[in-house]
Amino acid sequence: MILHIDMDAFYASVEEREKPELKGRPLIVGGRPEGRGVVAAANYAAREFGIRSAMPSARAVRLCPDLIILSPRGELYSRFSRQIREIFRRYTPLIEPLSLDEAFLDVSGSEKLYGATELIGRRIKEEIKSELGLIASVGVAPNKFLAKLASDHEKPDGFTVIHKDQVHAFLDPLPVGRLWGVGQSAERRLLHMGITTVKDMRKKSSDFLEQEFGGIGNRLWQLSHGIDDRPVVTDSEAKSISHETTFVADITNLETIESVALALTEGVCFRLRDAGLLAKTVNLKIRYHDFSTVNRSKTLEKYTNGTLEIWNTLRQLISDLLANRSFSVRLVGAGVSNFGENKCLETDSTGQVDLFTNFVEKNISGQDEQKQDQLDRLSDEIRRKYGKNSIRRGKSF
Ligand SMILES: [Mg+2]
Repeated sequence: MILHIDMDAFYASVEEREKPELKGRPLIVGGRPEGRGVVAAANYAAREFGIRSAMPSARAVRLCPDLIILSPRGELYSRFSRQIREIFRRYTPLIEPLSLDEAFLDVSGSEKLYGATELIGRRIKEEIKSELGLIASVGVAPNKFLAKLASDHEKPDGFTVIHKDQVHAFLDPLPVGRLWGVGQSAERRLLHMGITTVKDMRKKSSDFLEQEFGGIGNRLWQLSHGIDDRPVVTDSEAKSISHETTFVADITNLETIESVALALTEGVCFRLRDAGLLAKTVNLKIRYHDFSTVNRSKTLEKYTNGTLEIWNTLRQLISDLLANRSFSVRLVGAGVSNFGENKCLETDSTGQVDLFTNFVEKNISGQDEQKQDQLDRLSDEIRRKYGKNSIRRGKSF
C-alpha cells in the first residue's frame, strides 16, 4: 500500500498558524491585485467565496472585498516542509515529493516495526498536527494513482483508505476528467462518445481506447481498472525535479509569469538541496492558451543548488522566449535536471557560495545528516544576521 500525504491549504495554513488573529478570516497568499498578481494559496474561509489558487488576485478581491492578502514567505514554507519531511523520515526513506506540501510514501519496509500502512498514515497525520499545528489529508491505497485520489476524497482533514476490493467501487462514479492524462480536449471527446464516468471507460476495451486516443489509450484503460505500477521514486533517484502552475485565467504579462516562476524555482531548489543534489541543467516549460507547449533548457558550466543562479538562468530562458512579444500563457513550469551528488560542502545549503563559503567551512566539515541539519540552521541564521536582501530575489510574487 502507498500513502499520499497532502497538506491542506499549506501556505495559508502556515500563515494562520503564525498569525492566529487571522484564523478563520478569508485570506490568500499571493501577489497584489494591482500588480497583476495571482493567488498562490487560499484558506478555506476564502474558498467559500469561490477563490482558488492560480486565480488572478484582482478577481479574488472582487469575489471577497474583505480579503486579506499576504505576500508569500518561501523560506518559512520551506522550513515547515522540511519539518514535515522529517516526520515522514521516521517511517521511511522512500519519499517522493510532488511539491513542498505533498508526497508519496512507500512505508512497506516499516510495517513490521510500526504496523500496517494505514496505521502509519494515521500516526503521521497525528504527528504533523500535534508537532506542527498543521492539518494533512491522507490517502492510503494500493498504488500512487489511487492514493492521490484518496487523499483528495475527504479533504480537508481527510483520511481515506481504498482497499484492494474497493478499487472499482471507488473509481466507478468518478468523472473521467479526474484520470491522469485526461486534459480538456480528451475529456470533451470522451464526453462526446458518451463516456462520462470511469465506469463507462472501464467497459471499453484497451484496443478501442488505443484506437481512439493513441499512446495514452492503454494508460486510460489501466487507470480505469485502478492499475498503476509506478514505484515511489525519491528525489535523489529522480532524473529531474520540477514544479508547475496552471493558471485559472490565461496570463498575458511577463511580470506575473516571472513572479510565479520564481516561487516555483524556490520550491524546486529546496527539494534539490533537501535531496543532497546539485544540478547542471535548468528547464522551463510554457504552455500557451492553445495548449501548444514549449520546453527550453540551459546547461550551466558547473553544478549548482543555488536558487539565485538557477533563477537567473530560468529568468533568461523566460525572457528569451517571451520578452517583447504578446502571448497568452496557461501554464508555467520550472525544473532542474542533469544531477550530480553534493559530495563536498562547497556551498552552504542556500547555495550562496560567494558570500558565505568561508564562514560555513570554518564552522562545519563532514556531511552526515546532523551536520547537514546544523548547516541549514546556520544558513538561516546567516540570512537573518546579514539581512534578507543578500539572498532574497528581486521579486516576491
Ligand atoms: Mg496541498
